[in-house]
Amino acid sequence: MHFPTTSKNCHYCKKHFNSAANVRTHIRKLHKPKFSCPEEDCDFQFIMYSEYKRHYITKHTIEKQYFCPLCDKGYKYEGHCKTHISNCKANTK
Ligand SMILES: [Zn+2]
Ligand SMILES: [Zn+2]
Ligand SMILES: [Zn+2]
Repeated sequence: MHFPTTSKNCHYCKKHFNSAANVRTHIRKLHKPKFSCPEEDCDFQFIMYSEYKRHYITKHTIEKQYFCPLCDKGYKYEGHCKTHISNCKANTK
C-alpha cells in the first residue's frame, strides 16, 4: 500500500487545498493541534494523542528497535539512541 507523505486534504474536515503547506497552515489555525511529530523530517500534527501515537507507530517505529526511555523516541541504531539519551531534553532535571 502506498501512503503519500504529503496530503492536500485536511484529514479533519476534508477541505481541499492547493498545497500541503496550505493544509498545515489551515490545520494549525483552525484545528489547533496539540501534538506534533518529533521526527525531524516529518511535520504531521495531531489533535488527539491517540492519533499521534498511531501515526508514530505506523510511520516511524516499524524498523526501529531502540527507544529512549525518557521520551519514547525511537532509533534504528543503538549508537544513535545512546547519543540521544545523553542529550535528551527529558533528561535535564
Ligand atoms: Zn480542516
Ligand atoms: Zn511523523
Ligand atoms: Zn529522549
